[in-house]
Amino acid sequence: MNTLIRLLLFIFLLNAWQVHAEATSCSEKSAQTYLDNTYQRLLDLYGIPPASAPQIVIHSENLTVSEKDKTAIFGYYDSKTKTLHVACNAGSVNSLEVSVGHEATHYYLDQAFGKLPLWLSEGLATYMEVGNNVEGSAANKMNQPRIKEFKGLLKHGRVPALVELLNQNPYSNNPSQYYASYWALIFSLMHHPSRDVQQQRRHLLLHLMNAPDRDLGTLNKQLIFGLLKNDTKSLPDWELAWRRQIWDLN
Ligand SMILES: [Zn+2]
Repeated sequence: MNTLIRLLLFIFLLNAWQVHAEATSCSEKSAQTYLDNTYQRLLDLYGIPPASAPQIVIHSENLTVSEKDKTAIFGYYDSKTKTLHVACNAGSVNSLEVSVGHEATHYYLDQAFGKLPLWLSEGLATYMEVGNNVEGSAANKMNQPRIKEFKGLLKHGRVPALVELLNQNPYSNNPSQYYASYWALIFSLMHHPSRDVQQQRRHLLLHLMNAPDRDLGTLNKQLIFGLLKNDTKSLPDWELAWRRQIWDLN
């Protein structure tokens, strides 16, 4: 990583974060630390420093999908006001870390790459909730709650087929169990026991993120074509191998 970029990022982080907390047990300082970590990981992965900083509002109350739908959520990102709304206590010990990592990634991706298909934006956001970019399949500090969730889906035969997962429309009813599958798909594209395969897959992912044509069908075809070309497997074989890779994680 270029030293100048690192220095610029550091200065940027020092000056730019603005965090507003309601009276909660979550401190602004820890929210900032999670942001710094998230942006450092994103910078390491994509080499693009963030263009501007989001505002962060920490909520003590449980956040819900809407006034009508009371399903609890960890946070959301308001693209109009460039504000991340994150929950302090959303049912897990590290919910602030998870929700800052997730929502800050949405904010960053929007700025750096523009609108991405749902599987990519949610997959990358869930990938950034917890964990690190360490190479290989045995990356430590993985996203254990998502692994557990995905293995549960596998056990009950509820993992959507790859094609179905890729074609989810953000405006359709997007079942929450899809999130663990988005995470699993991105994890398998980021990590692989073989360094060569891992590099090819990360390359493919970056290529899709930078593709000028954001048509979902075109991107999905490119992904599947790229995977099959690199791994020389049929689609059903790749589907099995992808699930197996996550199943074998500890
Ligand atoms: Zn999200």
